[in-house]
Amino acid sequence: MAAKSCHTVDIPKMEEMSEKEIKAIIRITRDAGHHSVMEHASFTFSIEDVSRALTHQLVRHRLASYSQQSQRYVNLEPLEYVTPPTVAGKKEAMEKYREVMEYLEKSYHELVEMGIPLEDARYILPNATHTNIVVTMNARELWNFFTLRTCMKAQWEIRALAYIMLRQVRDVAPTLFEGAGPACLQGPCPEGERECAERVRRGLRGVKR
Ligand SMILES: Cc1cc2nc3c(=O)[nH]c(=O)nc-3n(C[C@H](O)[C@H](O)[C@H](O)COP(=O)(O)OP(=O)(O)OC[C@H]3O[C@@H](n4cnc5c(N)ncnc54)[C@H](O)[C@@H]3O)c2cc1C
Repeated sequence: MAAKSCHTVDIPKMEEMSEKEIKAIIRITRDAGHHSVMEHASFTFSIEDVSRALTHQLVRHRLASYSQQSQRYVNLEPLEYVTPPTVAGKKEAMEKYREVMEYLEKSYHELVEMGIPLEDARYILPNATHTNIVVTMNARELWNFFTLRTCMKAQWEIRALAYIMLRQVRDVAPTLFEGAGPACLQGPCPEGERECAERVRRGLRGVKR
């Protein structure tokens, strides 16, 4: 509707536009680089039990809105945390990881018991700590997010999240996100390498393109 309104005397009504016309307009504006019209469509995600390491990367995407669980107001006992697959896959690494997490949880608890405010006790919490975050991004920003974060160069946890988000928006807005994904699927790989393209395709299996 916003895209068509650039070329009409009156703002067109959505209900008077056919599915075929909507798809055509989305494709024409996208291919012409008239991407600001994509900013009128926004998507909100409720993201639970990801690590603080992930959200630290996520919030670098500046053209989005965020509401994150506060470590100043929420007592994080018991300490829930993300375990990277590389750690989970190695017995001795897993033992060390669990030992450190248990020590940190116990120490956090002791600090809180001593009357240390949550906002100060949290200084000892690790990057792995679970957090929840509600994120709203418009379609233009999501395209940029998918380009960067579905790439095999992106860190595994945020990449896994990006693929879930891509599948979800593709389900509800297939034309708007037609072709969205890593840079290597849109053109030349900016990293100058193509060896990971097959792994990217595997990651996108099941996503209509
Ligand atoms: C594989 C990978 C590795 C990374 N490694 C590091 C690292 O080691 N250290 C580190 O600090 N960060 C790192 N980052 C984060 C990266 O530098 C970006 O901050 C992050 O990906 C957000 O991207 P963005 O700026 O495009 O997104 P957004 O902030 O959402 O911006 C979207 C787009 O808006 C435009 N824009 C936004 N703000 C401005 C502005 N102020 N001026 C001009 N244009 C603007 C740009 O076109 C931008 O692409 C990494 C990211 C990736 C994907």
